[in-house]
Amino acid sequence: MVIPVPADSITVEEALRRVLDAAPGLPPARVPLTAAYGLVLAEPLVAAEDLPPFPAATMDGYAVVAADGPGWRELIGEQMAGYVADLTVRPGTVARITTGSPLPPGADAVVMVERTREADGRVEIGQARIAPGENIRPIGVDLARGQRVLDAGTPIGPAETGLLASLGQAEVFAHPRPRVAILSTGDELVEPGQRPGPGQIRDANRYALACALAELRVPVVRSAIAPDQEAATRATLTDALAAADVLITSGGVSMGQLDLVKGLLDELAEVRFGRLFMKPGKPLHFATTPEGKLIFGLPGNPVSALVGFEIFVRPALLKLAGHRDPVRPRVAVTLAHPITPGDRPEFQRAVVRQGAGGRLVAATTGAQASSRLASLVGANALLALPARREPFAAGERVEAILTGPLPGDGRPTTSDG
Ligand code: AMP
Ligand code: MG
Repeated sequence: MVIPVPADSITVEEALRRVLDAAPGLPPARVPLTAAYGLVLAEPLVAAEDLPPFPAATMDGYAVVAADGPGWRELIGEQMAGYVADLTVRPGTVARITTGSPLPPGADAVVMVERTREADGRVEIGQARIAPGENIRPIGVDLARGQRVLDAGTPIGPAETGLLASLGQAEVFAHPRPRVAILSTGDELVEPGQRPGPGQIRDANRYALACALAELRVPVVRSAIAPDQEAATRATLTDALAAADVLITSGGVSMGQLDLVKGLLDELAEVRFGRLFMKPGKPLHFATTPEGKLIFGLPGNPVSALVGFEIFVRPALLKLAGHRDPVRPRVAVTLAHPITPGDRPEFQRAVVRQGAGGRLVAATTGAQASSRLASLVGANALLALPARREPFAAGERVEAILTGPLPGDGRPTTSDG
């Protein structure tokens, strides 16, 4: 039986839609090519030149007249890469040539050095049949002038950077990364290097979120702890909002008396949602300022904060950075064991590995309490389990969001569950 969405909550899908609607690509700017890795191109790249710009040898060997065929030829000189030799290859002659060198006029093929022998200023061509064009990259074969090479919206990785460099783009027009502020709230929080006093705990969220942001290569421009005191929290929020495009807070959004962030969001911004039909992370808040800045009020429990980051903040940051496809796909996985259902759609932390026949098999990471960060350790997936009454059976197929690589691709993944 399907469990209905309560009247005071919205679904994850609706919430994500509201978040993405409020996150347009940030205005692009010119940046040096050397700083463009990971950014998203804001204009198409059209080739202004041919590549290669000249017919080029693809082998070390001899530039020949193909119709000459095999036999002894006179060696008239050499053409190495990087300049144009004053040479013309006439019938009965050859020129030594290296990979990447321009083909000398008169030649129409290259015979690889392994099929030749050189002695006394002459070269024996040992290849029976030589096709015109053999071992030559014609002008423009890799990129033709006028060709659209990259579309706007393309993330700039190693290959894209190489293409931009090849085509002379020492600067590229790209979306900047959003600047982010992270704020932990709560009188109970102390820094990792401090010994907690009575009733205190160490701040986990600011450190965990800083790593999640580092994975996206997003700069953190403010990082602070705000006490459960209204004026101080207001001042910290205001300062963070002035410096950042996106503010991420954790804690202070539940129903408690000192859940001050909730009220301050209402005062400083427009709250777009504050209650989700989701577990963990029911009280996750999202608000926008008149300047279009985004505020995510994540719940304080460390798992809720990181899962909320994965489901909502990550796509928003990617979209602000210009990515056209900021939401990770969901894939079908087979459960390795039964799972007790819940009355809210639940993101359970799991390890997904490839089983027999290439099937993806999922096992959860032990107890799924929203305070238990260990449930995220080694997890490479969130199972997206619908709210229902019947238990999930071993062997049942459910949806999963792969948040990390499958075990076996070189990076360690472990499970304690
Ligand atoms: P709150 O939403 O402020 O009521 O916090 C919910 C739970 O998460 C409480 O047990 C808090 O102590 C805990 N919590 C809040 N912020 C953090 C944090 N930055 N690091 C670790 N635990 C936190
Ligand atoms: Mg609190």
